[in-house]
Amino acid sequence: MNSSHSFHIITLGCPKNIADSSKMEESLLRCGLNLSSSPEKSDLLIINTCTFITEATNETIETILEAVDLKKKSNQKLIVVGCFAERYSKEIQEEIPEIDLLFGTGKYSQADEIIRSHFPEYFQQKRPDLELLKRNLHLTSKKKNNSSFAYVKISDGCNRGCHFCIIPTLRGSFHDSPKEEILQDVHKALSEGAKEICLVSQDTVFYGKSLDELSNLIQTITEIEDLKILRPLYLYPDKKTYKLLDLFLTNEKIAPYFESPIQHVSEKVLKSMNRIGNKNFFIDLFKKARQRKDLEIRTSIIMGYPGETAKDVDEVIQFIQEVKPEKLALFGFSPQEGTKAYLLSEQLEEQEISHRVNLVREAHLEVLKEIHISRIGETYPAIVDKVGKKESIVRRFQDAPEMDEVVYVKNSNLKVGQIGKVLIDNFSEYDMDGVFLE
Ligand code: SF4
Repeated sequence: MNSSHSFHIITLGCPKNIADSSKMEESLLRCGLNLSSSPEKSDLLIINTCTFITEATNETIETILEAVDLKKKSNQKLIVVGCFAERYSKEIQEEIPEIDLLFGTGKYSQADEIIRSHFPEYFQQKRPDLELLKRNLHLTSKKKNNSSFAYVKISDGCNRGCHFCIIPTLRGSFHDSPKEEILQDVHKALSEGAKEICLVSQDTVFYGKSLDELSNLIQTITEIEDLKILRPLYLYPDKKTYKLLDLFLTNEKIAPYFESPIQHVSEKVLKSMNRIGNKNFFIDLFKKARQRKDLEIRTSIIMGYPGETAKDVDEVIQFIQEVKPEKLALFGFSPQEGTKAYLLSEQLEEQEISHRVNLVREAHLEVLKEIHISRIGETYPAIVDKVGKKESIVRRFQDAPEMDEVVYVKNSNLKVGQIGKVLIDNFSEYDMDGVFLE
């Protein structure tokens, strides 16, 4: 029996992947493996991949190739999992034979069994040693104590069928997690020190048989005393989400934050994307969200979709100037093989797509500058995310972890997860400087 074998997981892509990696990590620890903080020193190096857009695919390929180089020196086993593995399994096996094991998103939940059956020599032969298991789980909770937040996945897959999106092909149709499992994950994260829970999925508002189920889930979670902030992410901009906003207006533990990806505002483009909504509906939706005075908005928009005209671009810019979303994820359309949008005629040149992205980005940066100026001298409820020797990172409740702006502060003696207020005194393009008021 060898108890010293270790693994390391590199996670690429979105918070959903982070949630999946965390589950994989947990199951491997339960099997008696150790978690290594360094990819170089681990016996099993696992890469959880992303292939949402071309840029993500390129980053995934680069990461795998770096790991192949590493493997030549350190002789570890290389395991590639997740969306990229699901999508290109045949091509990857042919092109990168150095990969020792490959499996896709559909097999996340059996990750420990699959890895164990391929590399039994890395696992203990008998039942895991209880002492070692306890030590492992203790180590991981110590590690996680360093995080003020955690992602909890409430569902996977998607039934919307947006024509540009490869996710339903990779993650399958929508399926939600049992409420008990979600609550277990929430309790576990809180017991490990998190103060904030971000609910993630491909389509949060689709959860349950009716909107009531999602509302109940949110209510139940926010009644947990240790939870300070609940942040439901990925709310598709439809009538259900419009109704769900009532809860945002009454439940103070829900973060003052509304993330709803609209992808475009022109009805013609939205139809071609197989999405619902139009500019007026989105304006109403965000207006309703802003009834909560301290709330900030995040949305995403894809520019350069096939058939998009200059008028459609103007419509997007006008929308940005009117709604003034504080956060905007802006993508240039990148045709993904296997999607309907890939086959559309009227594809735009890459250069034209970048030009349109830049036009919208400039319009948003103008809006953002005004927003930043208005924040100077204001205080916001905030949570400490990282503590450094000279500088620490604090996040307003209006900002989601790892996605949005942060505030750099020079206070000493802060603790990760500490909650207080932050006074903003300066800003750069996106982030801010301030003072943490305890
Ligand atoms: S809602 Fe559309 S963009 Fe989002 S995951 Fe589903 S198919 Fe993809």
